[in-house]
Amino acid sequence: MSLKLYNTLTRKKEIFRPIKKNSVGIYGCGPTVYWHQHIGNLRRYIFEDILIRTLLFNNYKIKHLINVTDVGHLTSDADFGEDKIEKAAKKEGKKAKEITKYYFDSFKEDLEKLNFTMPDKWVWATEHIQEQINLIKNLEKKSFTYKTKDGIYFDTSKLKDYGKLANLNFEGLQEGKRIGIKEKKNKTDFALWKFSEKKGVRQQEWNSPWGVGFPGWHIECSAMATKYLGKQFDIHTGGIDHIQIHHTDEIAQSESAFEKKPWVKYWMHSGHLRLKEGKMSKSSGKILRLKDLENKGYSSLVFRYLVLSTHYKKPLIFSFENLNSAKNSLQSLKNIISELKEDKEINKKYLKEFEKAVDNDLNTPKALQVLWKLVRDEKAKGKLGTIKKMDKIFGLDLLKKDGKIPKEILELKKQMDEERMKKNYKKSDKLREEIKIEGFQTYTTPGVPESGLKPIY
Ligand code: AMP
Ligand code: ZN
Repeated sequence: MSLKLYNTLTRKKEIFRPIKKNSVGIYGCGPTVYWHQHIGNLRRYIFEDILIRTLLFNNYKIKHLINVTDVGHLTSDADFGEDKIEKAAKKEGKKAKEITKYYFDSFKEDLEKLNFTMPDKWVWATEHIQEQINLIKNLEKKSFTYKTKDGIYFDTSKLKDYGKLANLNFEGLQEGKRIGIKEKKNKTDFALWKFSEKKGVRQQEWNSPWGVGFPGWHIECSAMATKYLGKQFDIHTGGIDHIQIHHTDEIAQSESAFEKKPWVKYWMHSGHLRLKEGKMSKSSGKILRLKDLENKGYSSLVFRYLVLSTHYKKPLIFSFENLNSAKNSLQSLKNIISELKEDKEINKKYLKEFEKAVDNDLNTPKALQVLWKLVRDEKAKGKLGTIKKMDKIFGLDLLKKDGKIPKEILELKKQMDEERMKKNYKKSDKLREEIKIEGFQTYTTPGVPESGLKPIY
């Protein structure tokens, strides 16, 4: 067994050696729950899922946390702009808690459809305010902080190695001192605690030794990760967009407070999902959700297959042509597999080749090639047993039979159509849900909405 992972901190692929033998602590930066997660965000969690499945496959015991950012993430990652949650609550005329719960539930629903391995714990920022205050107090005692009109800041000039994760050139950054908030001593300094402009205007604010306000986004992750995983732990994940600011600042404050270096041994980052026009982001307005793909007749696992066919570190160019070939590939794979005879044997040669691929920094495109080679190898023995093992990592439900559409489902669809004709949309929606629970979905052919019915595989 030699699992190799690319470590952003050292810029090398390294043999994975956990701090404690056989038990691995992992912290993943999770969603900011002010809107639905788009398929770009979901790509990042599919990467995390493959990592978790690979560690489990390698017999590690794991402790896995993902955070939920429900306060403090401003519209600019660099501490200015509005709090995303407050902004959404205002816009939708709802309570902040309603917003965060609603979008978190929607996110979890998508993860379930993607066969995501749920973490041991979801850690919510607003449930750990005291831990964050304590951490800021610790930094204050060690003289890493200063106060401005709008908050308590971390003085990055106190650290010689600030920016090591992103390989930032600190000298160069100093020149940009006046960009952003004027009172900051250095451009890279970041907020640990922000004051409410006026008490009682924000929905989410807390008392602190420095005044009423709310935590900065970065302090949330440092405080929560350390509470559950200790002052030093194994793996921290996120999207590449987190390297420059969020993770750089997490490292700065954590290493200063806990006096352990490195705070995290392996930093892993997944590449972006891009459209031809550029990165998919909520701010650009061009986003697609899993639901949008489903409405066009693509199941969540087809999207998962597409994601697995590109290495997690590379940009993934999304298009419906690519999604369509993923759909065809998955369909053919499942068709071939459904014809295989039951056998419990394992094909050691193929399994080894497969393990080598995933153990090599989670090379899922290579692992898929091995799978294809196995199904096409007419002489190979132990196909079904081996594929079953491989699917523990792919998570594509490769052995699940799609089958024909049962009579009861067709009957439900007929009732649904009748209710829709009568404009009883509540009833027809309920029937659509029932059909979905049974593993089938309706689809639209040109000009005829929801004319078809097919299994969600
Ligand atoms: P957010 O909810 O905006 O905080 O983002 C949640 C996660 O999705 C973060 O880890 C981001 O790095 C990641 N992310 C955001 N946009 C993309 C994208 N287009 N492709 C891949 N990952 C993304
Ligand atoms: Zn984070």
